[in-house]
Amino acid sequence: MTAMYLKSIELAGFKSFGKKTTLEFGTRISSIVGPNGSGKSNVADGFRFVLGEQSMKSMRGKRGEDLIWGGSPALPRMNRAGVKVVFDNSKRLLDLDFKDVTVERVVYRDGQNEYLLNGTVVRLKDVIRLLAGANIGGSGYQIISQGEADRILNASPRERREMVEDALGLKLYQHKKVESERKLEETGMNIDKTKSLRRELAPHLNFLRVQVEKIEKAREMKDELAVRLNEYLARENAWITQEDARLRDDEKTHDAELKKLAESVSHARAVRASAGQGATADLKTKIGDREGKLSEARRESEQITRELGRAEGALEANTVTVEQIVPVPHVRQFARALSETIAEAERENDISIIKNRLGQIRERIKAFVEGLSGAAPETNEEVRQQVEALAKSLERVRTQEAALAGELETLRQRIAEAREAGFTAERDLMELESSVRVAQSKLGGVRSARANIAGLRQRFEEEVREGIALIGAAVHGWEKADIPAGALLEEDRHAQEKRRREIERLKIKIEESGIGGGDAVVKEFNQTKEREEFLARELVDLESSAQKLQDIITELEKTIDARFTEGIKHINVALQNFFAKLFGGGHAKLEVEEPRRKTARENLDAESEDEEDFVSEEEGLYAGLSIDVALPRKKIRGLDVLSGGERALTSIALIFSMSQVNPPPFLILDETDAALDEANSRRYADMIRELGNKSQLIVITHNRATMAAAGELYGVTMGQDGVSKLLSVKLEEAERVAK
Ligand code: ATP
Repeated sequence: MTAMYLKSIELAGFKSFGKKTTLEFGTRISSIVGPNGSGKSNVADGFRFVLGEQSMKSMRGKRGEDLIWGGSPALPRMNRAGVKVVFDNSKRLLDLDFKDVTVERVVYRDGQNEYLLNGTVVRLKDVIRLLAGANIGGSGYQIISQGEADRILNASPRERREMVEDALGLKLYQHKKVESERKLEETGMNIDKTKSLRRELAPHLNFLRVQVEKIEKAREMKDELAVRLNEYLARENAWITQEDARLRDDEKTHDAELKKLAESVSHARAVRASAGQGATADLKTKIGDREGKLSEARRESEQITRELGRAEGALEANTVTVEQIVPVPHVRQFARALSETIAEAERENDISIIKNRLGQIRERIKAFVEGLSGAAPETNEEVRQQVEALAKSLERVRTQEAALAGELETLRQRIAEAREAGFTAERDLMELESSVRVAQSKLGGVRSARANIAGLRQRFEEEVREGIALIGAAVHGWEKADIPAGALLEEDRHAQEKRRREIERLKIKIEESGIGGGDAVVKEFNQTKEREEFLARELVDLESSAQKLQDIITELEKTIDARFTEGIKHINVALQNFFAKLFGGGHAKLEVEEPRRKTARENLDAESEDEEDFVSEEEGLYAGLSIDVALPRKKIRGLDVLSGGERALTSIALIFSMSQVNPPPFLILDETDAALDEANSRRYADMIRELGNKSQLIVITHNRATMAAAGELYGVTMGQDGVSKLLSVKLEEAERVAK
């Protein structure tokens, strides 16, 4: 004996069950009997409903409302219909950790549905999943509705295949496959998206890469520039500092020299001045004066000589008169001189000159008269004395004369000397002035060299500033560097100039590279690269998961295929057995058709019928199932030639054989035996018993043989109030109740 799974069903406000009604299932085969229209099929509908049926048609209604107790004069209508089934879960039929599992569904008048698992509201999906795990639900072959026994015969090969797959418990794999296919499709979309993102990113990344390469080149150039610039600046600074110090010393030296020369010049000028015109003029005046005095002295000595001569003559003659003393020529000369001076005065117009001449005349007269009176000696003695005195005077005058002549000589000597000194001073001055010029030109040279150095210093500072702008703080390296060898030597200047030109060239190159703030570009490049690498990794991940999904799908397909093939084999064995039993021979067999493509029509139907089901929309090849039937003693084969009863028998054989191979926990058969004659009813009852060993059965029937196979019987009746009522009955009563 296998386990019992279905414990009870409770119908509350569901269709004709206006009052809460519970059916407890205590045996493997339960039979529900009762008169037409009492509500037996409503119980089967209740099963469908609670197991998640979405098709109203299969529950014989149009809207959700039709499922709710509609009310009768005796009992008012209700607002909700609820059906609850209790499963014995001690064998973990359902994947839930409970001993009993209650599945409940409620529908309200507004069409709202509610699903509860052990009293907790869940989604329809959850219910369907849970039941599918226990081989319950799906295409619904385990609830065979009234008059629908041959549904499996009427179904299309594709629908039939689905029913068989369902019966074989392949639905779970199908769901998994569909799920995997959906995931694969999603993954495929993500792969496409990732690829297109990478494609979009590629040109930008390339652009950035080129930029960054340029930036790196520029950075290398900048590093080189820093090295070169530091050496250049260190040398330049050393040179400028040295030159500046040297030139400052030179300037000082030349300044001092010039000062000294200026002093010498002014001294030489003084010397020249003292030896010059002023001094000579003074000497010349003196000479003039002495010359005048000398000629005076000579005149005096001549006169004295003459008077002395006369006096000596008179002394010889012993007689001396004035007439003798004053010679006539002397008087004449006196008169002539006077007359000449008067004539000169007469020619003059200037009164002052005339007056001057008159003065001269008076002086002349006075001198003549004095000469007459004073010079008239009285006696010889007197004359002798006179001679003596005159001789003495003459000597004095002559001494005076000699002294003056000597003085004159000295003065003339001095003039010559002064002239000589003047020439010497002039020469010295000229020499000094030329020295000054030389010194000045030297100083000028030093100053212009200093100006040049100042210019170099300015250029140097400018270069430092430019360097900061180009390479930043790295430019200060030169400050710490030792003075490079040769930096202080003149011959380094050529090399230094070469360095400078190279630095200029480098600067131009850096400027031409045209990259200023490269940091932002580098950052963006790194980010973009990271993004690209992320996408590449993502792609690898996605492709590997796509591969995995593909593998899973392939594996599932293999499993489904293998189980299906294996299942069909087993079903066919059972089918042949049941068929032969029912028909007393003959053959029946399920055959897998040649694969064909699903039509668009079929796809559409599948979509509109099963809104919430997991039907795949695959367009793949689909091999349907056909049934080959050969009745005993009849020549024609195929389903089309079967009578109603024969169709029912064939269906029953097929359904039962399917149930045998993968027995569902329970099976509900609603008057599946309606079309059978008595003999077949008995065979049917035997089959029910056989089937009951594998699945729990709930059989709705009017057939006594069938009733007899059941362990317990429920009678359903409907009174005047229109409410279905339930009563437990014995077999003996059953037939009465059923009528
Ligand atoms: P048969 O033996 O002829 O197949 P049955 O016992 O299977 O009959 P059901 O089809 O289960 O009968 O019951 C039909 C009855 O249920 C009808 O009388 C119908 O009026 C009643 N019924 C169906 N839906 C409702 C509803 N929503 N409210 C009240 N009664 C309803």
